[in-house]
Amino acid sequence: MIGEPRALGRSSGREAAIWFAILAVVTAMMLSARASLNEALVTLAYLLVVQGASARGGRPLGIAIALAAFLCFDLLFLLPYGTLVVQNPLNWLVLVAFLGSSILSAQLLYRAQAEAEVARQRAAEVDRFAALGAETLNVARSEDALTAIAEVIRTTLHLDACSVYMSGTDDDGVRLAIRSADDSRPIPEARNPHDLIEWVASRGAAAAEHVDGTTRVGVDPAAVAAGADSSGRARELMQPLRVRDRTVGVLALRKDAGLALSTAEVRVLEALAYYAALGVERVRLAAEAERAQSLQEAHRAKDAVLASVSHDLRTPLTTIMGLAHEIAADGDDRAAIIEEEAGRLSRLVAQLLDLSRISSGSAAVDIQPNEAEDLLGAAAQQSAGGLRGHELRISVASSDELLFGRFDFSQTLRALVNLIENAAKYSPDAEPVDLSAYRDGAWLVFAVADRGPGIPVAERERIFEPFYRAPGRASDVGGAGLGLSIARGIAVAERGSLAVSDRDGGGSIFSLRVPAMSSAELARGGESPE
Ligand code: ADP
Repeated sequence: MIGEPRALGRSSGREAAIWFAILAVVTAMMLSARASLNEALVTLAYLLVVQGASARGGRPLGIAIALAAFLCFDLLFLLPYGTLVVQNPLNWLVLVAFLGSSILSAQLLYRAQAEAEVARQRAAEVDRFAALGAETLNVARSEDALTAIAEVIRTTLHLDACSVYMSGTDDDGVRLAIRSADDSRPIPEARNPHDLIEWVASRGAAAAEHVDGTTRVGVDPAAVAAGADSSGRARELMQPLRVRDRTVGVLALRKDAGLALSTAEVRVLEALAYYAALGVERVRLAAEAERAQSLQEAHRAKDAVLASVSHDLRTPLTTIMGLAHEIAADGDDRAAIIEEEAGRLSRLVAQLLDLSRISSGSAAVDIQPNEAEDLLGAAAQQSAGGLRGHELRISVASSDELLFGRFDFSQTLRALVNLIENAAKYSPDAEPVDLSAYRDGAWLVFAVADRGPGIPVAERERIFEPFYRAPGRASDVGGAGLGLSIARGIAVAERGSLAVSDRDGGGSIFSLRVPAMSSAELARGGESPE
């Protein structure tokens, strides 16, 4: 239990009796040798008794013994004996000095003991916090740690209830995380404390509900807890829980009779509130880790399903296409449509399979030294059928060096053909598509530029997400929104990148970057620099 330093002056009757007996014995011993004693020796002997009494029994006993010793001194050791009269005026000085130093030593001893008591209490506090820290770190479930902290706050500070609320991760408000064990009472409807809790969580400032029913916000939590707030005692104090300047939750303390914590208790509350904040943070992190894990598992499951479904779809599709082709050869136009649609479906299935391989990291890329011009030539050839009448203009930056890079030729070719076909798909008729290759620092860049509508800044990342198709695009251009995500997946697997930027004069430029090779590397036979 936390309290003010023990009342040190409260000596027991037994302690007092012992010290008065000691005083009597010392007096009797000195009396037997009174003739040979001088005032200095008597003063010294009595001072020792007074100090002993102060040390053992506290200040009041010390002062009582000092007064008794003063009387004995005057009556028994200063002439004339047996009266309070003092013959030699100098002896008055001796008496006053004795009394003064006795009281002073009693006072000094009291203060030293009080300080030692405070130090002992602080040490006990530190021990308690260390134990609480170990306890809260050791429990397996983070919610249990929070329950332990709420319970410690309630019992240590003699509260009726202690609740801990957690701020939501997004904007989903505050929720009750923990209530101390005995607080099963429903929250009264009328005062709707949840609004106040929300206020505290969103503003990061404390609020209090007073015994007289009034509510105040933006209060100083320490003053309210101590019952020292100008508007009287609070029945409920809600203070924000902060970790590194971020409000992570709210601590609500309730004492129906009114909060009035001592200074030491307020200090304890501050320390425990920090523990509660760390506890809330731990609960949040644990929940996040759990969510991340289940997301990862869901992703893995989705990839596995996608891979097996796309694989199983391909075989019947190939059969359908073959049969439709045969029937179309007999002159049935409907079979030609079936063949075309089945072909589209087959391409989509192939794309899905690629995407699942790329996103699960199981796509094999065969990275070799390759020359840029070879890739441009192959891309021109392969995309010829998908240019929709647009001209493809190819340019290679003129330089003394041959442009080489490290990439998987066939995968990069697929990505590039996709970019060229997109450029043709989204460009107005008669506008040529420009394909170029150049060196940019450590990168070999393949750029596909068009005069299409361009990509708004807000969509520049989204178009690389699977199944994303920009709103408002003509639906007749086809596609499922997978091409760009596959192309980027390929670039990333090659340790490169794919990004889009605006083209001067209108349109977009898609830049596919792969690691370039220097002539020195080429001369060494294409070994990787790593
Ligand atoms: P899709 O099969 O729909 O073309 P992609 O992944 O290749 O799928 O492209 C995603 C979206 O990005 C497209 O639906 C389109 O809105 C936009 N996009 C792609 N290339 C271009 C381009 N060259 N110009 C304008 N928009 C483009």
